[in-house]
Amino acid sequence: MSSYMEQTEEYVLHTYNRFPVVLESGHGVYVKDTAGKEYLDFGAGIAVSGLGYHYPGYDEALKAQIDKMIHTSNLYYNVPLAKAGEKVVKASGMSRVFFTNSGTEAIEGAIKAALKYAWLKDAGKKYEIVAMNHSFHGRSMGALAVTGNPHYQEAFRPMLGEVKFADYNDLESVKEQITENTCAVIMETLQGEGGIYPIDEYFLKGVKALCEERDILLILDEIQCGMGRTGTMFAWQRYGVQPDIMTCAKALGCGIPVGAFVLNEKTAAASLVPGDHGTTYGGNPLACAAVSAVFDIFERDHIVAHVNEIAPYLEEKLEELTARWECVTARRGLGLMQGLVIGNGVKVGSLVNAALTEGLLVISAGNDVLRLVPPLIIEKCHVGEMVQKLERALSSCSW
Ligand SMILES: *Cc1c(COP(=O)(O)O)cnc(C)c1O
Repeated sequence: MSSYMEQTEEYVLHTYNRFPVVLESGHGVYVKDTAGKEYLDFGAGIAVSGLGYHYPGYDEALKAQIDKMIHTSNLYYNVPLAKAGEKVVKASGMSRVFFTNSGTEAIEGAIKAALKYAWLKDAGKKYEIVAMNHSFHGRSMGALAVTGNPHYQEAFRPMLGEVKFADYNDLESVKEQITENTCAVIMETLQGEGGIYPIDEYFLKGVKALCEERDILLILDEIQCGMGRTGTMFAWQRYGVQPDIMTCAKALGCGIPVGAFVLNEKTAAASLVPGDHGTTYGGNPLACAAVSAVFDIFERDHIVAHVNEIAPYLEEKLEELTARWECVTARRGLGLMQGLVIGNGVKVGSLVNAALTEGLLVISAGNDVLRLVPPLIIEKCHVGEMVQKLERALSSCSW
């Protein structure tokens, strides 16, 4: 394995401190490294592989599309685009979708749509965006500008645009940041990278009401928490608060790089028009075939219902674990997006490493949270195996 690691470090820009394994293949909810060691995957490639690896019907759909065509460009119509578009719009009850290549680009598009909407209304008077502290929306200059974490922004200032930051789940704080120039509020429906913080219902409803009062657009970032992960197809559906613009990516293609921003009727009717926005790859036939297959499989195999079946069991086991271990101080999360707060002398980084040694992939979030975002298809036996491995890792970390 070490020769591939050396080769990577010699040629690939060092922007990640990678864990010392070379992953080669996956099956179900397990992955294997080049030495043949197997890992239970509770990271799912950062909440991407919602269907795990080689889910029945998924590979076949992609292979069939490869045999037809991989790419054409957005100068022409293509069949998978038509199908995937309908599925995303119908699942969200919104109006129009634009496919992108990543989550970051979905955020860029959402911001542009909001600015254009405001520009058409007030000719450039409304341009401020209110975003949340501890949020994460991506690494391009636009997405970074609304990411409320100085750690990611510091070296890249000045940030673009007029962005103000409010505290998540603090309605007063949002009110304080809104001015007559505000065109949009952007937030995750469940904060992921920041440390797995579910949204308070009163807060989401309060922000929605504020936005409606003042014709400010509400952008909900569902890139990590969407696609069934929290027990509804999109996390906002739990609260019945539909955004004006939603962003989606990660599990949208379950492994093929694809994102989307989705507009409601009012925003679609008065924002981006031909010439305003584009992408060469975005929504290409292969990407859209993946999106389409994902929605078909979700429906055929009742994936979201399965999340609701298995999540209470996962929560129960995590609560028990939290009670047993002094260094696990709390559990937070919804559905299959769970976080354990690690403290009392144990560093989450060491715990993630120890879990790897035990054959378990997990991720950190924020400074002190162990994040569990497994494929949505896990069964009780996988929860049990995860707890066993995590407890072995915990005992090797705490003494
Ligand atoms: C991962 C993530 C992004 C960025 O998506 P990329 O595909 O990495 O560009 C944006 N918002 C949230 C909430 C995310 O979790």
